[in-house]
Amino acid sequence: MSESSNTDVIIVGAGPAGLALACALADAGIRSHVLEQNPADDLVQPPEDGRDIAMTHRARRIMTQLGLWARLPADEIAPLYRAQVTNGESPRHLMFDGNEDGHEQLGWLVPNHRIREACYAGAMARGEMITLSGDARVTALARNDREATVSLADGRRFSAPLVVAADSRFSSVRRMAGIGARSLDFGRTAIVCRMAHDIAHDGTAHECFLHGHTLAMLPMSGKQSSAVWTITSDKAGDLMAMSDADFTAAVSEAFGHRLGRMQQAGSRHAYPLVAVYAQRFWSTRFVLVGDSAVGMHPVTAHGYNFGLYGVEVLARELAAARQAGRDLGDSRALAAYAREHERTTLPIYLGTNIVVKLFTDDRQPARLLREAVVGLTNLLPPIRAAVTRQLTGDGRPSLRQLLPRLPFLPRQP
Ligand SMILES: Cc1cc2nc3c(=O)[nH]c(=O)nc-3n(C[C@H](O)[C@H](O)[C@H](O)COP(=O)(O)OP(=O)(O)OC[C@H]3O[C@@H](n4cnc5c(N)ncnc54)[C@H](O)[C@@H]3O)c2cc1C
Repeated sequence: MSESSNTDVIIVGAGPAGLALACALADAGIRSHVLEQNPADDLVQPPEDGRDIAMTHRARRIMTQLGLWARLPADEIAPLYRAQVTNGESPRHLMFDGNEDGHEQLGWLVPNHRIREACYAGAMARGEMITLSGDARVTALARNDREATVSLADGRRFSAPLVVAADSRFSSVRRMAGIGARSLDFGRTAIVCRMAHDIAHDGTAHECFLHGHTLAMLPMSGKQSSAVWTITSDKAGDLMAMSDADFTAAVSEAFGHRLGRMQQAGSRHAYPLVAVYAQRFWSTRFVLVGDSAVGMHPVTAHGYNFGLYGVEVLARELAAARQAGRDLGDSRALAAYAREHERTTLPIYLGTNIVVKLFTDDRQPARLLREAVVGLTNLLPPIRAAVTRQLTGDGRPSLRQLLPRLPFLPRQP
């Protein structure tokens, strides 16, 4: 069964990246058909998934331009003023403050299910520019000089000049396009859970690298924080099986009872941690966005921010191709997007993985090295400023200038 979808672009995956791209393309006059394997009804009010997303200034600007920021419930957006990193029992810590980068705040924290809800509502508000099909699992991809065609599990087929994969870091469509990915399985799982507490936080995110596990406490609206407990995956089941009282006591103890009496304020969710970087971001009539291009470890809070940066650049390049009368599957637009997205993401992807490895290694040499890193970063304001700029995401000079070029990594063609 073949259906012509009368569309410019097919987007596989109605996650926050796929839907934000559909909105950006619609605003540029480009029609899209979004195919989602889950039922469309599930997208209207996605359930709480425990993820609280730290958004940068650039990500907020993109969401604002797409009219998506205004769709977030104002009382669930929490300002993030600063971030503090501690290394085990060491009295030294690293502090990153939005003020250092000329901002009142580093960024904002928003529950992931609210972002997904806003993206869905934004897409629906664009009327006939966006067609959304649920229960539409893509199982095959074929391409020729004129078009790209996807086949669904139920036998339907759709064709368009360009197919975009936005189907998560474990993207099957990426594989169907013959694009590999480097992945790094950290052997760890993040257990996330909303906690209520007696003492108000001051808008500071804490990342505590403790022995055997890490605990992040992210300041949410009101007297609530999002606890992110990262532990080796063999122990994750024990943490998930704890009673609410035992889990609360464990979080409270690990955080040194700094927020007073605590109470679990949501359910626990477990996310195995695997970082993924696609070997290339495009091929014939095909391109990757969101986690299918770059799936980050959450510690530096860049995953969806990178997704939005990619959406902005890809939409801009496709709009330029359309204006110049070029085919939307034209390689120039896709290659330009890929080059810019790699420039933005690769240094941070590599840097994040190095930091995670260093800060989760409990051997004595690693402990000493990170103590030295904390001390040195404090002593060298340019390094701290560069990290702060990446946290605010305001597009000024990047960490690339501080990291060595790594010749063994393939470059985007
Ligand atoms: C614990 C945790 C904390 C995080 N914290 C942050 C943070 O602070 N800041 C930040 O920026 N990011 C953060 N992230 C990352 C962020 O959640 C992701 O980057 C983002 O959700 C990815 O969106 P996506 O649309 O690319 O993919 P997904 O949300 O994975 O969506 C993919 C969609 O594709 C669909 N799909 C898959 N296969 C098919 C198929 N074959 N056919 C049709 N549909 C298909 C899926 O059903 C799904 O709806 C965090 C992640 C985790 C796990």
